[in-house]
Amino acid sequence: MSINVVKSSMPPYEEFCGEIKDLWDSRWLTHTGPKHQKLEKGLIDYLKVKNVSLFSNGHMALELALNALELEGEVITTPYTFASTTQAIVRNGLTPVFCDIREDDYTIDADKIESLITEKTCAILPVHVYGSVCDYKRIDEIAKKYNLKVIYDAAHAFGVEINGKGVGTLGDMSMFSFHATKVFHTVEGGGLTYSDNSLNDKFARIRQFGMKGQESVTVVGTNAKMTEMHAAMGLCNLKHIDEEISKRKKAFDRYIERLSGIESIKLLKIKQCVKHNYSYFPVVFDGYKYSRDEVAEILAKNDIFARKYFYPLTSEFEVYQNRFDIQSTPIAKSVSEKVLTLPLYADLSVEEVDKICDLVLK
Ligand SMILES: *Cc1c(COP(=O)(O)O)cnc(C)c1O
Repeated sequence: MSINVVKSSMPPYEEFCGEIKDLWDSRWLTHTGPKHQKLEKGLIDYLKVKNVSLFSNGHMALELALNALELEGEVITTPYTFASTTQAIVRNGLTPVFCDIREDDYTIDADKIESLITEKTCAILPVHVYGSVCDYKRIDEIAKKYNLKVIYDAAHAFGVEINGKGVGTLGDMSMFSFHATKVFHTVEGGGLTYSDNSLNDKFARIRQFGMKGQESVTVVGTNAKMTEMHAAMGLCNLKHIDEEISKRKKAFDRYIERLSGIESIKLLKIKQCVKHNYSYFPVVFDGYKYSRDEVAEILAKNDIFARKYFYPLTSEFEVYQNRFDIQSTPIAKSVSEKVLTLPLYADLSVEEVDKICDLVLK
């Protein structure tokens, strides 16, 4: 049996069947139905946020977050992320301005943001990469000083809390991905969290072709609704989320136990004030007897498929060739060449973690 970097969690089959049974009678399959509404409420509670809007996927949620804020100009962001973050900026006609990352947790280096601000800067789009919480206090200060919006890509940070506060309360808005491979999922899906109540109505229209009622179209919208089937999957998975995270923690802790104490193997550190979700296990091989690529190869020969999250940087994508200065984010560049994300999911056993560690250390 091969081991992949991630593996989707499934609720008990009977539980899902039970949850969708009434859809056969009601035929209410999409359009903010009862399951959609119930999931929104459940997520408001679990994430400890004021508002949640649901979407067809996390990427559309992020694109529409930027769209709803009616931004123009430049957005300061990180190149050390999944394609979605940068693509959402560019697809809104905005210009990404890449800021380097911190060496300790790979999030945006807030101390380097101010020097990138111009009169065109309209927003900051940081990523809580691997569930590590960005330096939100510093980012908040800068945003206030220059009157910028802050939208967090919290795709990796479902359930993460800082000093008891939901991570989705930070900034103007946060985007969570409910993709099948994430800590919590609705097969495909995504959500935005925010405190501004007026956005509820705006998002309801934008994701439904801009329509307000049947005869009135008030904004340029698209179709990005979450269906009742997907919401049903979310309702089932939400029931098991604490168990999901504690199972991940077991595997995560075993990795830490086996791989810590080696100077050339850098592991993710979790801050005291953070309730983590154990979403990923990134390892930076820096001067180790094997390079990152060699470790990946050794594992692959044994049917274990780690991933180079995140390589290449989004600023290096073919589509953006010669558009961005890669040298301006040297730490991001260096980490992306040394990082390997090892398999981590709820059903990964301690024995499997041991097998992976044996191969890495041999
Ligand atoms: C998964 C992910 C997204 C996109 O989410 P989808 O739900 O797959 O559209 C965006 N940003 C980051 C960092 C992600 O990992």
